[in-house]
Amino acid sequence: MPAFLPYARHTVTPEDEAAVLEILRSDNLTQGPQVEAFEREFAEKVGAKYAVAVSSGTAALHVALTMYGVGPGDEVIVPALTFAATANAVLMCGARPLFADVYEDTLFIDLDSVDVKTWKRACGVINVDYAGLPSGGTGFIRDAAHSLGATIRGRPLGQLSALTCYSLHPAKHVAAGEGGMVTTDIADFADRLRAFRDHGRVDGWMEVLGYNYRLSDIACALGRSQLRRLDANLARRREIAAAYNEAFRDLPYVQLPAELPDRTHAWHLYPIRFYNRDEVRQRLRTLGIGTQVHYPPVYWHPYYRKLGYERGLCPVAEAAYERLLSLPIWPGMTDGDVERVIDGVRGCFPA
Ligand SMILES: *Cc1c(COP(=O)(O)O)cnc(C)c1O
Repeated sequence: MPAFLPYARHTVTPEDEAAVLEILRSDNLTQGPQVEAFEREFAEKVGAKYAVAVSSGTAALHVALTMYGVGPGDEVIVPALTFAATANAVLMCGARPLFADVYEDTLFIDLDSVDVKTWKRACGVINVDYAGLPSGGTGFIRDAAHSLGATIRGRPLGQLSALTCYSLHPAKHVAAGEGGMVTTDIADFADRLRAFRDHGRVDGWMEVLGYNYRLSDIACALGRSQLRRLDANLARRREIAAAYNEAFRDLPYVQLPAELPDRTHAWHLYPIRFYNRDEVRQRLRTLGIGTQVHYPPVYWHPYYRKLGYERGLCPVAEAAYERLLSLPIWPGMTDGDVERVIDGVRGCFPA
């Protein structure tokens, strides 16, 4: 049997290795010149004035929420269908997430599903660019963990929201090992974000209670090297998505991932919907092909159940979850890998 094909995988080149080795041999391992250079290059890439590197995408969401002073007694609206970290960051502030349902096609947050009273109580909304297609919603915070490199009407995401949060986890577009980034055009936010990630210190003096959310020069050297390949990697992801769309279009009751004419997709995930999802998943597993389900509605997690959230809250997200399957999509996949997935999936359906 051919080697196991994971649903997501980072790629590391000899250039990446050399960049990291150079830092290991230098005088500085933690936050230093690599962080500053990475922030500058990242900000430029997403069209924002400032980028602030932090230790994870979750930390990015947490510090972004603190910019608005979100705290105990506050409520923040988040989509039900996202990685738990989107909602966890709200809990980390001592605030309460309010789950909104999602649109059936794009799986973006659907604010019409929230009643007006709730809407008025909330202090903001976190929009999630599900799978890598940028959501139209802007304003408060954009969780762009999936959508680095995407654009809306030709504009990069950094220009579209006050605060945009990215993840540098290896499954995402740019792997730094672990890491996150917050981008903004607001100078005061950038200053305060930098203080928050470093114990709340400004010129050595603690002004607020901060965290140690610093990212190391080792991670940033890897991130910088990876960022140089972003465009090439996005192009490869787009090719794979196009091959899947073509190959699966005619399958019975299949729902291909949403695309929108005015924006480019970053294809972090290829979330297709099958009526016989579990059967497809099982068959692919026996063929050595990894898949994943993104995501169970966040409030289905036992921890959220204990907080009092109940099943049935967001019916569209719950129904989507039953049918969603993320197929392998990552830039290092060969054409043979792509064919293997296509044959595996098509084999689940009568010819
Ligand atoms: C990956 C991810 C995060 C968290 O990023 P980490 O770097 O793993 O902390 C947040 N939100 C979404 C939607 C994600 O996919």
